[in-house]
Amino acid sequence: MLKKERYKHFVEYFSKNQPNAVTELHYNSPYQLLVAVILSAQCTDKRINQITPALFERFPDPESLAASSAEEIFPYIRSVSYPNNKAKHLEGMGKMLVDVFKGTIPADVNQLQRLPGVGRKTANVIASVIYDQPAIAVDTHVFRVSNRIGLTTNASTPLAVEKELMKFLPDEVLGVAHHWLILHGRYICVARTPKCGVCPLTWFCRYYERTHTETALLKAEAAKVKKAKEAAKNKKLKVISKELAKRSVDKDI
Ligand code: SF4
Repeated sequence: MLKKERYKHFVEYFSKNQPNAVTELHYNSPYQLLVAVILSAQCTDKRINQITPALFERFPDPESLAASSAEEIFPYIRSVSYPNNKAKHLEGMGKMLVDVFKGTIPADVNQLQRLPGVGRKTANVIASVIYDQPAIAVDTHVFRVSNRIGLTTNASTPLAVEKELMKFLPDEVLGVAHHWLILHGRYICVARTPKCGVCPLTWFCRYYERTHTETALLKAEAAKVKKAKEAAKNKKLKVISKELAKRSVDKDI
């Protein structure tokens, strides 16, 4: 199947079935989303949603964050991954927001990336979700699922995936496509063993095509037989060498 066709089916399927997909992070303002996305790096949205109510109550805006210190922030985020670094990032981010951006979250991806703790992925999320800009953030789910489905070809870095998705996805679905890919990766096309048995995308997924065609299944079966034969051979060799060792000990006695 041509890549263009995969994109067509991908957009058609999700536009029909998940037209309003959104982030699972809880937030009520651009500031809150920025904080939540920074905290969500290498952590689950569920965990972030558990700790942000208390955090936002204590630090409701950039000004209160700017007036705080990493030591003050730490207790509120101690249960997320890398709390020390993230506390420092939040302190620096609050200060820069107030000192440089007058308390307003910038819309420009390059300006956003000047903020401590904000990389390209976070900047793209803010640009897309808050400012409705044509941007797509590539996290681990987006990276993996795009590759598996075949929306990308040999894209080995998040930036390469981003460029390819930007090139082939229509502008009007760029923002929502990020959530389609994340949610699909989180619940169906999971990292270790994708749940292809319940996936509605099998008919245009490149990974499925490669792993479930007759040739692929025959190859997998042949590899299994070969492995079993090698294991049996190794087992036999072990028994023989044990027997020989025993005989030589008996002889010595
Ligand atoms: S068919 Fe399997 S590999 Fe392809 S998208 Fe679905 S779960 Fe992922």
